[in-house]
Amino acid sequence: MRVRSPVSPEPGELRSRMVEQQLRCRDVVDERVLAAMERVPRELFVPKRLQGRAYDDAALPIGEGQTISQPYMVARIAEALDLTGGERVLDVGTGSGYQAAVLAELGSYVDTIERIPVLAEQARANLDAAGYERVRVHVGDGSQGFPARAPFTAIAVAAAAPELPRTLYEQLEPRGRLVVPVGRRGVQQLQVIIHSPEGPAVLRSVPCRFVPLLGEEGF
Ligand code: SAH
Repeated sequence: MRVRSPVSPEPGELRSRMVEQQLRCRDVVDERVLAAMERVPRELFVPKRLQGRAYDDAALPIGEGQTISQPYMVARIAEALDLTGGERVLDVGTGSGYQAAVLAELGSYVDTIERIPVLAEQARANLDAAGYERVRVHVGDGSQGFPARAPFTAIAVAAAAPELPRTLYEQLEPRGRLVVPVGRRGVQQLQVIIHSPEGPAVLRSVPCRFVPLLGEEGF
């Protein structure tokens, strides 16, 4: 008797499951974010040997001691930025390029900055393969933001800072939003900060765990 090997599910099916089980079942409620997460092919942003785990509920190694963030954290960051389309967004810590792709999928004009050149190069290739040619990838110290294109409506930081990075805050438009993990190495709070006339207003804060932000205003 011939034994049929089990057919592995299509990426699209895995993606729908990820959205239901990892995002909607928790506390991600913004339908635009859920739709964007359903469209971005995460399998194109992880190393080939890990493609079978692309939709795991986890961060995964991408080389150079860095990770692609857990889908839930990517969705939380996107939701916290409250984007409606057409905003100028800075993504600090490109890594694989996945977060940048989700932000672009939400209709933003995205600049993303990574300190490790080989990761930036890989992210460029990932973004091109997934069809996000319009995302601009830069190499440099993102703790200093990207002055050439400031101010931004929103800034997302995918690496943990010891305290609120002042330079990033100053590159926000009035009422702009900064989402950044702040705390010690290993355990932080994901802070959502609004640029207001009275100075930084912390909107909310949830526990999280990110790799450290290095550089001038990092660790
Ligand atoms: N958003 C990414 C997550 C990458 S992990 C993704 O979806 O894949 C965080 C990244 O921040 C790492 O690639 C790390 O190299 C980068 N990083 C750390 N400090 C940085 C800095 N000062 N400037 C730019 N990138 C930085």
